[in-house]
Amino acid sequence: MAMIRHAVLLLLPALLVACGTTPAPPTTAAPSPAPRARAAAGVPVVVLDPGHNGGNAGAADEIARVVPDGRGGTKPCNTTGTETVTGYAEHAFAFDVARRVARVLTERGVDVRSTRSDDAGVGPCVDRRAATANDARAALTVSIHADSAPAADDRGFHVAVADPALAPSQRGPSLDLARALVAGLEGRGSTPSTYRGEGGLDPRPDLAGLNLARVPAALVECANMRNPGEASVLTDPAGRQRYADGIADGILRTLGR
Ligand SMILES: [Zn+2]
Repeated sequence: MAMIRHAVLLLLPALLVACGTTPAPPTTAAPSPAPRARAAAGVPVVVLDPGHNGGNAGAADEIARVVPDGRGGTKPCNTTGTETVTGYAEHAFAFDVARRVARVLTERGVDVRSTRSDDAGVGPCVDRRAATANDARAALTVSIHADSAPAADDRGFHVAVADPALAPSQRGPSLDLARALVAGLEGRGSTPSTYRGEGGLDPRPDLAGLNLARVPAALVECANMRNPGEASVLTDPAGRQRYADGIADGILRTLGR
């Protein structure tokens, strides 16, 4: 009997593998500290949120599902985003810029998280993106997008914050973050929008991710993808690095690093 029980125990890992429930490999690595512990140790958490996703266009029903907009209404889970006239997609731009921002911040000792880990998936929904930052108790969160302006000669960046504010983090702290992002982008040669907001700042009530954030939050529209001049910058890796450096400068300034 004892021998039979022993044999079953020996077989168990193989059975689990066969069922697709692979047991966790033994590890000697220490578990990653909880966000609060890391923040206490002086490591700020920043959540980057690259807009849209590469699989959204093929998942119309899934991204059309409505989610809370943070002001008592609803909004679609997510959208496909825009693209340049030559077909360079906003989701790809946003994902690449976020990766570049993450690289700069990581080198400066920031614990960077992202709302999506690749550019081929669907979503996540805008409410989930805000929850990622809230759950991580992030020092701040920045959504990265590029716009599709009404006219091809519209140009420049703008930075949105939730307005009217729904939480203390959306008052001074989000505005300070947005102003630092404006300064960062201007410092790297970008110019404020000619068609939205004022001086690159665009307070607005309709962005669910900003409404639902309970940590300092801002959304950057880096440029007008439909503007041929800006499109030539957006599609160039060196141009994307310039936007990323501006965003990273703003984040580091906000963190006091
Ligand atoms: Zn967008």
